[in-house]
Amino acid sequence: MKVLVFNAGSSSLKLGVFDDERQVFKAGFDRFGPDGCDLTVAGVVRRAPQTDLRAAIAAVPALLSEQGVAGIAAVGHRLAHGGTGFTGPARLDDAVVARIDALTPLAPLHNPAMLQAVRLARDLWPDLPQVAVFDTSFHLTNPARATTYAVPAAWRQAGLRRFGFHGTSHKYVAERAAEALGRPVSELRIISMHLGNGASACAVQYGRSIDSSMGMTPLEGLVMGTRSGDVDPGAFGFLQRELGLDIPQIEAALYADSGLMALAGSADMRDVQDRAAAGDAAAQGAITLYAYRARKYLGAYAAAMGGLDAVVFTGGIGENSATMRRRICDGLGFLGLTLDEDLNRAPDLSDQAAPQIQGPGSRVAVIVTETAEQRMIAREVRRLLARPPAVPRPIPVAVSGRHVHLSAPAVEALFGPGYRLTPGTPLRQPGNWVAQERLVLEGPKGRLERVAILGPLRARTQIEVSRTDSFALGVDAPLRDSGKLDGTPCVRLIGPAGHLDSDGLIVAARHIHTNPEDARAMGLQDGALVQLRLADGSARSLILDRVLVRVAPGTVTELHIDTDEANAAGIVGATEGALVGTAQPVD
Ligand code: ADP
Repeated sequence: MKVLVFNAGSSSLKLGVFDDERQVFKAGFDRFGPDGCDLTVAGVVRRAPQTDLRAAIAAVPALLSEQGVAGIAAVGHRLAHGGTGFTGPARLDDAVVARIDALTPLAPLHNPAMLQAVRLARDLWPDLPQVAVFDTSFHLTNPARATTYAVPAAWRQAGLRRFGFHGTSHKYVAERAAEALGRPVSELRIISMHLGNGASACAVQYGRSIDSSMGMTPLEGLVMGTRSGDVDPGAFGFLQRELGLDIPQIEAALYADSGLMALAGSADMRDVQDRAAAGDAAAQGAITLYAYRARKYLGAYAAAMGGLDAVVFTGGIGENSATMRRRICDGLGFLGLTLDEDLNRAPDLSDQAAPQIQGPGSRVAVIVTETAEQRMIAREVRRLLARPPAVPRPIPVAVSGRHVHLSAPAVEALFGPGYRLTPGTPLRQPGNWVAQERLVLEGPKGRLERVAILGPLRARTQIEVSRTDSFALGVDAPLRDSGKLDGTPCVRLIGPAGHLDSDGLIVAARHIHTNPEDARAMGLQDGALVQLRLADGSARSLILDRVLVRVAPGTVTELHIDTDEANAAGIVGATEGALVGTAQPVD
């Protein structure tokens, strides 16, 4: 299957065609300007008349036929940012394009040109399947401890979190390293060091990214060509007070005037190394700092993963600079990592080779390989299109009346020491039941009698009411996902043996419980927000927006809504909801 891959930037367009794993065509339009651009085809550079991305993409069909490339079956697009919603590649349709468009504030420098390429290519090849592959998706497996900044809740709620980038490259080289070691990636702890103009490190634990050095933006982490990497955010205040700089000025300088460029006067590591060899102290210092920062992340990620099996170097610097690889690895003997200097000096990377360059007896393998983001995008496109299409199916609706999940201390406070709840009616979710006991909720305005208790016990008491109930109680219950209870209001629980004032009062956000098998068949992804139609054809037919999908093994697929939502749709008795629009098949 021939896949055409685009990687669009504001001033360039790279493209390649892959026939399965074999690259059959490669070209790049560079430096768009009023008088045209540089066009590189098969390594030969010539001037070309295209002045922008639109003209370049329009020229691709002629370029392909000029080079004798025919039979394109699909198009793959690199997208920098997929937010939290795109956990893998996504087949492009109008709804997906709109979702990507909405993510522009997260990647204002990168996503717009890439999305423009998507739109142009969909106009040009309306009949070909087209797929977006996101730099961020691979890192969406990072645990909250790796993605969370310790900043005010309002900032986090606005979307401030760590994402990580270069995901396509990290995933490709981790898979390639595992293949070179002859072991499944699911058995290995790998640190991938992508050192190009942009640079990032990634901890790939048993095949999943668990941390990565780039953060909310591609600024955090390693020293890069023109980007600073880690900087104390206190610098913003200091620079404003001392130099009178405003935020856009500081941000622009951190992206474009920092890194090797700032330290050594060139963003190009070859220049920096040449200057250092000629005795330039600034260049020498830049190299030392670059290597030190990279080594620090290596040590950190070995600790984060509780051990290390392989380090893989890639990107222009990682692939080509033996001295930088040596400097980064120097002193890592305590981790069981040593280099073989001869092997390090001239690894042969032709034909996607991934040679090992560790010293004899090194417990950690060290691998060098060319990154191949376009190859990986083509691979992801083939994998996605090979999957059976997602088939939406009706989702049973479960209407939750007001209920309480109790902690063990709460049971004792309400029912007496040593008391155990009596499981009554089983719920559809395996292992869950309604207790025979009931309790009373009391707020400043009123009481709700005979409130159901759901088992089993939880670590923390959670009280779920409808918005209408919250008015009856006189407490403003916030809309929350289950388990997100910090800062929730208090209400009084009254049982036969005593009462308890507990926080944890919420209006539960609607959600779909499902298992990995059903999720895959329906094209649903954990954490995705989908739309569902209720009571189709009835006078109160309703589309629910922002329904959270929660995938966990062993759960029964059903939609959970509360009584207000059910009443709004006029639901009486058993019913089903229908997914609106097509979802994407998932891994
Ligand atoms: P990008 O991130 O733009 O794809 P690359 O992966 O091509 O960039 O990496 C570019 C960097 O690789 C530049 O700093 C360049 O100097 C460096 N580089 C390329 N070849 C060598 C080499 N032989 N020795 C040292 N650095 C090199």
